[in-house]
Amino acid sequence: MNIGVLALQGAFAEHEQMLSKLGVSSFEIRQEKDLKEDFDGLIIPGGESTVQGKLLRELNLFDKIKALIDGGLPVFGTCAGLLLLAKEIENDERVHLATMDITAVRNAYGRQLGSFYIEGEFKGIGKIPMTFIRAPYIGAVREDTEILAETNGHITAARQKNQLVTAFHPELNEDLSVHKFFLEMIAATHKA
Ligand code: GLN
Repeated sequence: MNIGVLALQGAFAEHEQMLSKLGVSSFEIRQEKDLKEDFDGLIIPGGESTVQGKLLRELNLFDKIKALIDGGLPVFGTCAGLLLLAKEIENDERVHLATMDITAVRNAYGRQLGSFYIEGEFKGIGKIPMTFIRAPYIGAVREDTEILAETNGHITAARQKNQLVTAFHPELNEDLSVHKFFLEMIAATHKA
């Protein structure tokens, strides 16, 4: 298995470390030619969604990555990655890849609660560490989107078919279970 990690900005290196701990190979996607590599899944890291969205467009990656996700490529977006995948962002006119039927709320916890840590329940896994950094939450899900975690009354993880998103950063803690969950999603796609 080989995973492409979007490496334009943000916390991509931490995702690569998680994958390597799980014995899975990964490579960085920085420019169009990187998409020629064979890969089974894509990770879009946290960082700044507006910056990543702008770079995706400028580097000619936007349409190709959107088409791959629409075509069924498994994708895991954390934090800014969630915002890039959302079809709607409640407090931002600009949407980006817009492949997932969720409405995200950007910088949803305000300034004071911008960053916090809790241990919360993730469906099918149990209690896991969750680090939030100026995080969004999911205000609403539609269609066949399944809610996987709710934190303080807000949706913070969800899945729709080949797409998995978390408002928190599993790559910033030692716990590997959400990455494992993503790898299992990929394995199930291969079997289907
Ligand atoms: N606040 C950032 C944004 O709007 C997301 C923060 C993060 O990825 N940690 O894109």
